[in-house]
Amino acid sequence: MPLFHRRLAAGVVLGMALLAPTAVAAPAGAAPSTTTGLTPQLATAYRMAKAQATREGVPLWITSGKRSWAEQNQLWREGIATYGSPGAASRWVLPPNRSTHVTGRAIDVGPQRGALWLARNGNRWGLCRTYANEWWHFEVATIPHTACPPMRPSAAHR
Ligand SMILES: [Zn+2]
Repeated sequence: MPLFHRRLAAGVVLGMALLAPTAVAAPAGAAPSTTTGLTPQLATAYRMAKAQATREGVPLWITSGKRSWAEQNQLWREGIATYGSPGAASRWVLPPNRSTHVTGRAIDVGPQRGALWLARNGNRWGLCRTYANEWWHFEVATIPHTACPPMRPSAAHR
């Protein structure tokens, strides 16, 4: 398996897995991730959502949160190598100057059950899925208790 697939905590691997009918497992070796480095707004929104998910018996955790510029740049380079061009790679991974993970404004969550729960309930805390092709990627994108904006088709769409 290419290094890129092992290191992207919840991106391409899970995206590809969506195409298959099998259950999705967290990638082996994914680094434990926390709210460290997230904006206070996102960290608080996530903690409140996590608490409610726990009360409802729904598993939910962050698979990838804040990334350093260097980490994102490595993912970007690996994505280009995997997909053959920046344009193709940008459907799944963005360069560091465009990634909201680098600025602490995005989280990837798992497992899929928890992510689906967050997609349905996250707007209570302002949390929204922002890309139609990434069920794991959330940002603070609305005012709490109001509807989320329409999702963009992928990260390639600004
Ligand atoms: Zn993400």
